[in-house]
Amino acid sequence: MADITAPAYRVFPIIPALKPGAMEGSGPYVSGEKMNEALGFPGKLVDDWHDKAIAKMGDLLGKYRSLTVYMDACVHCGACSDKCHYFIGTQDPKNMPVARQDLMRSVYRRYFTLPGKLFPKLVGARDLTREVLDEWHNYYHQCSECRRCSVFCPYGIDTAEVTMAARDILDSVGYGQKYDIEIIGKVHKIGNNLGLPGPALIDTMEGLEEDVKEDTGIDVRFPIDVKGAEVLLITPSADFFAEPHIDSLIGYAKVFHATGTSWTLSSMSSEAANFGMFIGNYEQLRKVALRIRQAALELGVKRIVVGECGHAWRVAYSFWNTLSGVGEGADPDDKFAQMLQKQLDHRYRQPTHICEFTWDMIERGALSFDKEANDKHIITFHDSCNVARGSSMGGYPGGQFDIPRNIIKSVANHFVEMDPSTTHEKTFCCGGGGGLLTDDLMELRVKGALPRMEVLKQVADEQGVNFLAVICAICKTQFSKVMPIYGFDRKMVGGVHQLVSNAIRLGEK
Ligand code: SF4
Ligand code: SF4
Repeated sequence: MADITAPAYRVFPIIPALKPGAMEGSGPYVSGEKMNEALGFPGKLVDDWHDKAIAKMGDLLGKYRSLTVYMDACVHCGACSDKCHYFIGTQDPKNMPVARQDLMRSVYRRYFTLPGKLFPKLVGARDLTREVLDEWHNYYHQCSECRRCSVFCPYGIDTAEVTMAARDILDSVGYGQKYDIEIIGKVHKIGNNLGLPGPALIDTMEGLEEDVKEDTGIDVRFPIDVKGAEVLLITPSADFFAEPHIDSLIGYAKVFHATGTSWTLSSMSSEAANFGMFIGNYEQLRKVALRIRQAALELGVKRIVVGECGHAWRVAYSFWNTLSGVGEGADPDDKFAQMLQKQLDHRYRQPTHICEFTWDMIERGALSFDKEANDKHIITFHDSCNVARGSSMGGYPGGQFDIPRNIIKSVANHFVEMDPSTTHEKTFCCGGGGGLLTDDLMELRVKGALPRMEVLKQVADEQGVNFLAVICAICKTQFSKVMPIYGFDRKMVGGVHQLVSNAIRLGEK
């Protein structure tokens, strides 16, 4: 950490000069034998990795039509090439989205197209050598699956999906990434990414009740495993102890308290994050999601509300229906999904984002605020990738952009927007998403944060912005770590519900 410095700020926007090979060999640690086996993957790189990898690729091409389209459709127009924060920050041409796709496309051509089989050199087809496999491990772990590039692609090619397929293939031959595999293992074993056991969680929540009582004089509850509660809150485990995440958890609890909503956490399913998506593995994605269904059924709740976590909301919003039976389109042949459908209250959106819950209560007049409590903050909002480009809120297009901003404007007096070419669907990744939030990728994380830091500096210098509000646990952790390297105070980042917590009036219903 000590010797990682931030790249120099540039006049924004600018296309960076190329530095070929700048991030070669900068990929993450390889996952260990025990971790891999615990998830059902081969312990280490198998001897027949070449044939297995090609077979797996064929399997994925057959299963996901989109992947075949992405392999065939690119016309190398270059519209995506300067849109990736990792390319902008590292200047490594292999971090251009089109080049990242080509790492797989060249292999696809060799084994799955006739010209590639007959005249490989003519069509840019490559054998899958050990060198190529290493390149995949390196550069497919320098993509945060943020999908910004796909917004600019005239064909809508989604590099994130290519990255997920590559990671899925790597895992299938025993060549996974340590951080992601380790985290998924902890969720299966204990119920959350941190490996925080139930009793420790209960202790932490009791401590929070005492802290809030001391601060406000009011008994705000942080209930766990309460059968028959109305709402099950599924939130990222970082909310239970990390700064500034915990301040948002306090905000959610205050909202539930002020609106008289009975709610509970689950000690068995205490994690919103689902790293199964990051590694592109359907079975892992489903297994993690099923813990939430089990908790909902056991506790008999009527609603499932998801806390501030970007990719968790994408998984919940886009995939929970078919994975676990929460939401419309649940599998009619899945008896547990159908049980859950009967149990949940369909007057409400299932699942509900905590921002949807809070905004709904604000609109109904069930919450009131002292906006002056946030007067020391001049606030801007960073749209998180998976919320912005992989989900919605409020049941209408663009709700995911409006609702968090509406909440901020309801609880604070000073809000400004960042450069519009970097917000809403064009937002930049924080630099730590997609399963890359690990110290062994610190250089990548710092460099990948450059575009967002540049735009933040603009509003900080010109409009005095001193608070960056987000609704993603990964963004909170990533920004807290890299902002000091860019000369900002780490406390400048916080959740939308941290601002809610500051301003909410608890005495009134
Ligand atoms: S998905 Fe995001 S991180 Fe990956 S190549 Fe595209 S812009 Fe870069
Ligand atoms: S914008 Fe789309 S078509 Fe153009 S180079 Fe990028 S991925 Fe290919």
